[in-house]
Amino acid sequence: MATADVLKPDFATRRKHFIFTDDHEQLRDSIRRFAIKELQPHAEEWEETTFPDWVFERMGELGFLGLDKPVEYGGQGGDYYTTLVLAEELVHAHSGGLGMGIAVQTDMTIPPILKFGTEEQKQEWAVPAIAGRKILCLGITEPDAGSDVAGIKTRAVRDESSGEYVINGSKTFITNGHRAHGIVLVTKTDIDLDPHTPTHDGFTLLLVPMDSPGVIREKRLQKLGMHASDTALLAFQDVRVPESAVLGQVGKGFYHIMWELQGERLIGAAGSVAGAQHVFDRTLEYAKERTAFGRPIGRFQAIRHKFAEMATKIETARQMVYTTAWRFQNGEYPVREITMAKLYSARIAVEVADECIQIHGGNGYMKEYGIERSWRDLRLNRIGAGSDEIMLEVIGRSYGL
Ligand SMILES: Cc1cc2nc3c(=O)[nH]c(=O)nc-3n(C[C@H](O)[C@H](O)[C@H](O)COP(=O)(O)OP(=O)(O)OC[C@H]3O[C@@H](n4cnc5c(N)ncnc54)[C@H](O)[C@@H]3O)c2cc1C
Repeated sequence: MATADVLKPDFATRRKHFIFTDDHEQLRDSIRRFAIKELQPHAEEWEETTFPDWVFERMGELGFLGLDKPVEYGGQGGDYYTTLVLAEELVHAHSGGLGMGIAVQTDMTIPPILKFGTEEQKQEWAVPAIAGRKILCLGITEPDAGSDVAGIKTRAVRDESSGEYVINGSKTFITNGHRAHGIVLVTKTDIDLDPHTPTHDGFTLLLVPMDSPGVIREKRLQKLGMHASDTALLAFQDVRVPESAVLGQVGKGFYHIMWELQGERLIGAAGSVAGAQHVFDRTLEYAKERTAFGRPIGRFQAIRHKFAEMATKIETARQMVYTTAWRFQNGEYPVREITMAKLYSARIAVEVADECIQIHGGNGYMKEYGIERSWRDLRLNRIGAGSDEIMLEVIGRSYGL
């Protein structure tokens, strides 16, 4: 009788997911090396000062701002997974705010310009943004309208004599808002529509240079986490832009921005998973070294089970992100799955970071260990790009409810 081979689990091997090729793994290594060597040493300083603009220039030079963008606009012509790799590996910069500022450029503002823009707009904005010479921001949220995007009040009124649009209004919580050269701005252009009749028509995206007269960077907002990013309150007072500033179709801006939000949510989900994995890994090391009652704390069953729970949640979220990314890459518009991935990943990332503080004990509460920073940074993901409650609404409604 033949004896079967003895199979032993190999927990130490790093396994590549099937959506990634060897090229993706090489890219992963080079981004990680860059993040550790050139960004991480400054992470503490940038918590105080916000990260400097040279990061955009340097990343543009290395091709990291255009990994999945077409070659004719200065991109690397890669697939969607390349930008996923970027979001994952930037956690090694130890700076959530930096990751967010970069993602605004790569996954929130360049994509709608490439998707809906004219050739002139692509040349004026997308090409220098991919090169890191121009910084962009995205203006959806207003002091009186966040989740309720259709409730925005920023008006862009067409001046029939000049053909220009005259913009008045205010935008808040705008990432990169202080440093940006341009903003993808969501405005209401059809002001004759009855404000009491819910409609998704009448909105228009405008590409506005931030040095236009009447653009006021009112306030640098202080926040719980993501300190390395700059967050602005902006005002628009009789800002005039030519008709050529319209991005996409007049009156269809709501649908355009909903398309943009899918990419924003998926990359946010990837960032949540990567952030959770990062804080998990650091805490695992700690649990192997820190001793209590004569043994490493990780050897207590209570702590070991925390790791088991966290690892299972992270892996579940990761599978959701990767499967959804596969759908996205293959031309589907998987709104329900993106929404689920965003909701679940953001939630578990905060749970994981919270447990990691617990496992660190008092040290988890101390700044020098950086674990409390991970919790503060990751906490945003349950609010930004659409809150948990809005994600639940989107998922629930997708079933016809
Ligand atoms: C650090 C940071 C960076 C950001 N960067 C940007 C940016 O670059 N550009 C940009 O445009 N925006 C940005 N945002 C804004 C972010 O997307 C909004 O904060 C988010 O969409 C929530 O909107 P809100 O803050 O107005 O909350 P609100 O809409 O006022 O919601 C308040 C609460 O009510 C709940 N709620 C609202 N509607 C419903 C409903 N229908 N059913 C159930 N519950 C509901 C919400 O879930 C939430 O819990 C940023 C925010 C932060 C904090």
